[in-house]
Amino acid sequence: MGFSLFNFLSSDVAIDLGTANTLVYVREKGILINEPSIVAISRKDQEILAFGQEAREMVGRTPNEILTVRPLKDGVIADFELAEEMIRYFIRRVQGNRLLRPLVVICIPSGITEVEKRAVRDSAEHAGAREVYLIEEPMAAAIGVDLPIMEPVGSMIVDIGGGTTEIAVIALGGIVTSISIRIAGDEMDEAIIQYMKRKYNLLIGEKTAEQIKCAIGSTPPYDEKKTMLVKGRDLVAGIPKTVELNSKEVQEALSEPINSIIEAIKLTLERTPPELSADILDRGIILSGGGSLLKGLDLRIRDETNLPVSVADDPLTCVVRGTGKVLDNLDFYMKVLNKPKHY
Ligand code: ADP
Ligand code: MG
Repeated sequence: MGFSLFNFLSSDVAIDLGTANTLVYVREKGILINEPSIVAISRKDQEILAFGQEAREMVGRTPNEILTVRPLKDGVIADFELAEEMIRYFIRRVQGNRLLRPLVVICIPSGITEVEKRAVRDSAEHAGAREVYLIEEPMAAAIGVDLPIMEPVGSMIVDIGGGTTEIAVIALGGIVTSISIRIAGDEMDEAIIQYMKRKYNLLIGEKTAEQIKCAIGSTPPYDEKKTMLVKGRDLVAGIPKTVELNSKEVQEALSEPINSIIEAIKLTLERTPPELSADILDRGIILSGGGSLLKGLDLRIRDETNLPVSVADDPLTCVVRGTGKVLDNLDFYMKVLNKPKHY
C-alpha cells in the first residue's frame, strides 16, 4: 500500500483531549505534543494570544489584560469556541504544510454529553480533519496499558485526570459499568487552597497548590514526612507571607477529594456484575492519569477495596498511547469496540 506517500501528504493523529493536558500522537512519529490544555486570551477584545505551554506560563501572573482559560476545565467543554481553536492549533502544528486533511481519533472524557461529543467532532472537522473518530477515555487508557479488553473477563481502570476521575469496568470490547466524577487533580489543588486559607489565612494560587500536591502531597498509609515553604498573601494583613507546611497537613487537606474518589470506586464495584467482580478480584485495579501519581493513593485504594492495585507505566501518556493504537489499527477497533454505556 502507498502508505508512506499518504503519510507524506497527510499525518493522521490521535489526540488525548484532557482537561489538564492535551497530547498528540502522530502516526509513525510518536507523541509530538504534550502540553497543558490552556488558552490565553486578551480580556479587551477576546483575541487569542497563546496556547498550551506558552499560555500556561501566563497563568497566575497575567496582567489584567490577559485571561487564561482551560476550555475543558471540569471535564465538560466549558468553552466550545476555545476548545475548537485549541484543537485546531494542535492539529495544525503537527500537520505543517501537508496537503491532505488528516484522519483524527480523539479521546474524550466519558462523562461528556452527546451534545458535547458532537461539538468535539465538529471542532475537529472545522479544524481540518478529514474523518473523526471518538473514543472514551477509560477505553483508551485500558488499550494503552494493554488490558485484555477483548476477552470475556472484566478489567477495572481508574483514570484520575485534572477535571475528572473516570472509573470503568471493561470486557468484550465495551464499557460494562462506568462512573465519571468531577473530582480529580483540580479538586485536590482547590482543597489545598481552602486549607491554607482556613488554617493560615494564606491566599495561594492554583499553580502553587499544584506544586505543593506534587512535591509533598500524599494520602495515608504513605507516611514519609516532608515539609515545604509556601509563599502566599496574608488575607488579613494583605502582605506576602511564608508558611512552613508539612506533609501531614497536606494529607488532611486532601482527605475529602480522595474519599470521594474512593467512594466512586466502591460504587462502581457494587454495580459490577458478579462474574466480572470475580475477575477484578483476581486481576486488580489499574490506575492511570496524572492523579494516580499522588503518593500512597494505590496503597490507600488497595486497603479500602481489598483488591490488588497497580499504577500504569507512565500514567500521563497511557491514554494517548491507547488512542494511538486505535488510530494505527482503526479497522480492527472500529469493528470490535462496543457502544459504551453510561450510568
Ligand atoms: P487530564 O487527562 O484531565 O488532562 P492528566 O492525566 O494529564 O489529566 O493529569 C493531570 C493531573 O495530574 C493534574 O491535576 C496534575 O496536578 C496531576 N499530577 C501530575 N503529577 C502529579 C503528581 N506527581 N502527584 C499528584 N498529582 C499529579
Ligand atoms: Mg486524561
